[in-house]
Amino acid sequence: MAKKKVIVIGGGFGGVFAAKELERHGRDQFDVELINANNYFVFQPLLPEVAASTIHSADAVTPLRLLLQRIEVRQAEVMGIDFDKRAVTVVQGFRRIPIDLPYDELVIALGMSVDLKRFPGLTEHALTMKNLADAHRLRTHIISCLEAADVTTDKAVKQQLLTFVVAGAGFTGVETVSEVNELIRRALKYYHNIKQDEIRVYLVEYANRILPTFPADLADYATKRMQMRGIDVKTGVGTKAATYSAVELTDGAVIPTRTIVATIGNSPNPLIASLGLDMHWGRIKTDRYMRVPGHDHVWALGDAADIPLVDHPGEDPTHYAPQTAQFAVREGRQLAKNIIAQADGKPLMPFAYTSRGSLASLGMSKAVAEVYGFKLSGTLAWLLWRGFYLSFLPGFATKLRVAVSWMLNAIVPPNIVLIESQQPGSRYIHYRKGDKVLEPGMLIDGFYTVVKGALKLTIDNPKTGEHFEKVFGPGQHFGERVLLKSALRTGLVVALEDSIVLWISQKDFTRLARAFPVLDTYFKDYIESTFGGPDKGFAPGSAEAIEELENVI
Ligand SMILES: Cc1cc2nc3c(=O)[nH]c(=O)nc-3n(C[C@H](O)[C@H](O)[C@H](O)COP(=O)(O)OP(=O)(O)OC[C@H]3O[C@@H](n4cnc5c(N)ncnc54)[C@H](O)[C@@H]3O)c2cc1C
Repeated sequence: MAKKKVIVIGGGFGGVFAAKELERHGRDQFDVELINANNYFVFQPLLPEVAASTIHSADAVTPLRLLLQRIEVRQAEVMGIDFDKRAVTVVQGFRRIPIDLPYDELVIALGMSVDLKRFPGLTEHALTMKNLADAHRLRTHIISCLEAADVTTDKAVKQQLLTFVVAGAGFTGVETVSEVNELIRRALKYYHNIKQDEIRVYLVEYANRILPTFPADLADYATKRMQMRGIDVKTGVGTKAATYSAVELTDGAVIPTRTIVATIGNSPNPLIASLGLDMHWGRIKTDRYMRVPGHDHVWALGDAADIPLVDHPGEDPTHYAPQTAQFAVREGRQLAKNIIAQADGKPLMPFAYTSRGSLASLGMSKAVAEVYGFKLSGTLAWLLWRGFYLSFLPGFATKLRVAVSWMLNAIVPPNIVLIESQQPGSRYIHYRKGDKVLEPGMLIDGFYTVVKGALKLTIDNPKTGEHFEKVFGPGQHFGERVLLKSALRTGLVVALEDSIVLWISQKDFTRLARAFPVLDTYFKDYIESTFGGPDKGFAPGSAEAIEELENVI
């Protein structure tokens, strides 16, 4: 008899453990294929350690092909699902042509996304902590801040660079702030111009306490421990908005900073949100067997699914499976068993699991733990934390690499090598009223268009005593001189009100303008008429006009 096709979409804890169980017990009945955007599985609890340089980024991940050697693994992005045709649409490889993959049983394990849109400026200026790239970016960013702070002569800029804010105090936020704090403080031995007391690290939590899934006394211990390590823990206050150089809190306080890490804003995966499924708290509603009601042969689990733990769960959050790796693993195993049971005509088992407890690392050999109802804090909890995650890590090689990194990290200073990461070619930048956007003497780095608000350019020519002012509103632009060549800015640009600007790098802007003659001509005419036209005494395009252009913004 032909085997049935099971497609698992999502290669996180839920998807991998469901696929593993099917690989083990359902191979005779099913062809199993797992589809994931990356070709690796991310051990998310270790991401804060990647950000803190404690372990190498490659050690927090394991190739899916290594984990799942007897089933098909496809690195592809899922673009859509046609429930009527029972097909998943994916794009893959270099050609990126959508293809349909038919299924008999579909398992949705796509996790959650982050959406920070309700906090103005946070999408553009906050770093997130969801995947490997995020952790790597955070590490690079922190070290870049230390490098810049060590050499700047501007006190205000130095303060911004040495202030680090983590928003959200669930275990992701607490572990991230603790690990990052240790990286910064231990790295200071290399930065001779930065003193310990110049470092400011904040943990900001809207609720009245941190670590909501832990008992209050353990949360208190964690708070005191973080405070002792120099972290300012602010509860009862959330983030309201952010700009490139500050974060505004809900109590009106403004913290000047170049680093905001958002561990808040969990939102439905955009693909899932587009499927028209019944959702509850941003997650796919399932029954107790993890089937998606109204869609035969469709199952969901992990962070993406709202799985009831009792028959009539209502609106009590404790009646649903929490979004943790611990639950996702058990859900995966149970879901696979249910798929096999359904094919065999046997009764399905409802998902039931009671948490064995929670662990959160606080850095510097301290942690909090609640295991089987026993509460632990300090070094013993930390040893338990390390032992537990080491045993849980997939693959002997990964376990060995992580154990060696942990041992090395205890005796050698942190690795502060800056590995170049790709800079975006364009981005939106938020400014608060009064912020300096550009200053005289800065190297021209790109092209700026005002999207919202107003900016004022002021040029004072010390040679001639001339004074020039111009206000830029939405749709107006400056910096187009990058089309001619790199030069130093002579003008000061200040935000007259809270503003948003689209910045395009010199390289990308030049490519765009050169590829579209209409744009190239427009900008060249604009430059000549604004800065070097006949009214300034130069013929447009003349050598004098160009020279003049190079001395003004
Ligand atoms: C920093 C951090 C620390 C954590 N620490 C702990 C902890 O200590 N203990 C604990 O129990 N839990 C912890 N968690 C939570 C835990 O990691 C999650 O609950 C768990 O990963 C959920 O598993 P999942 O399979 O549902 O989703 P995920 O692990 O998020 O996996 C979803 C997968 O789907 C893929 N995907 C998404 N969209 C697409 C698409 N369109 N096409 C193809 N692939 C796609 C993603 O790339 C990803 O691989 C932590 C989470 C984070 C972020």
